[in-house]
Amino acid sequence: MRMVVKLGTSTLTHATGKLNIRRVERLCKVMSDLKNAGHELVLVSSGAIAMGVGKMNLARKPSDIPTKQALAAVGQCELMYIYDKLFSEYHHTVAQILLTGMDVEDPQRRENFHNTMSRLLELGALPVINENDTVATSEIAVGDNDTLGAIVAVNVQADLLVLMSDIEGLYTADPRKDPDARLIPEIHELTAEVLALADGAGSELGTGGMVTKLRAAGMCLAAGCDMIITNGQRPEDLYRIAEGAQVGTRFFARKEEAL
Ligand code: GLU
Repeated sequence: MRMVVKLGTSTLTHATGKLNIRRVERLCKVMSDLKNAGHELVLVSSGAIAMGVGKMNLARKPSDIPTKQALAAVGQCELMYIYDKLFSEYHHTVAQILLTGMDVEDPQRRENFHNTMSRLLELGALPVINENDTVATSEIAVGDNDTLGAIVAVNVQADLLVLMSDIEGLYTADPRKDPDARLIPEIHELTAEVLALADGAGSELGTGGMVTKLRAAGMCLAAGCDMIITNGQRPEDLYRIAEGAQVGTRFFARKEEAL
């Protein structure tokens, strides 16, 4: 299976912005094992800005763009150092790719990206992708890594995109506010009712919310790729996902109608 795994900031870091070492170690171990079992993996990782906040010992995420860009430059470096170190322990080689919206909108650049990704996967490397936050201001940015995850999944013709964040999946109502909210295990069509379930809530350090996750689902489904929203607190769930078990909320693409 070719699987794109997107890790949100809330999955990778503590509320302080410092690395959640135990969780990231488990994630890298499970993903290494899945690669050993023959699956092709691509990682879309957030966390650059948050790691920069932690590394520079700031009290909170800044709101101005130049500081965010500077912190992304610091944090991206740290992020790749950690992935390189942890995946190397299991003899896997990581490759960093930083993109902006411009890179995937321009046909030539998109093709370059596709060619590089295909070659990296042929070589058995593990591509680790993030937005190029140091140059991506709002006019040219993809803007959030749920959408970036979908762009990557579609571009590499993945079978599945897994969005790992701090929520179990899509609920009938906001579970943080409504005790009667129920998890929806399967979605076969993005109806107006389904789209209305997103309320845009994100965590303090991340960018996405349910709105961006459902937008990502729309992009995946249109291209014949399934998508799962699940909680990143349990890295071992990736094994169950690879076995086809029910985890979180799965959005099913209609294969016969795929583009
Ligand atoms: N690219 C951002 C970062 O690495 C995260 C964007 C997102 O989580 O949606 O900090």
